[in-house]
Amino acid sequence: MANASMETVPKSLRNMRACLLCSLIKTLDQFEYDGCENCDEYLHMRGNRDMVYDCTSSSFDGLISMMAPDESWVAKWQRIKKFKPGCYAISVTGRLPSSIIRDLKASGVAYRSRDTSQKATD
Ligand SMILES: [Zn+2]
Repeated sequence: MANASMETVPKSLRNMRACLLCSLIKTLDQFEYDGCENCDEYLHMRGNRDMVYDCTSSSFDGLISMMAPDESWVAKWQRIKKFKPGCYAISVTGRLPSSIIRDLKASGVAYRSRDTSQKATD
């Protein structure tokens, strides 16, 4: 596991959390240390444990391992096709704080809840 491209894979099964914006699954420490590979440009979780708690959820369902996003119909279905290879949750419970959703909107990013246990919004 010395390969640098495997950084997005959770290093342990404890303290795993899923990003509320892209549903990437990593450990709390990985989010704090590296931020989210897909969203850190917007969420700035790197080095900020409070943001990690705000922008990730420990409650999620299902797990997809995506190694070749371009070839995966699952990735297309989950709208994670443009994201980095890694482990993704099928459903993430929770919502980003409204102040962060506002910031995302200002940056031109449409936030869509990853929580499929609630009624779909689209
Ligand atoms: Zn993310």
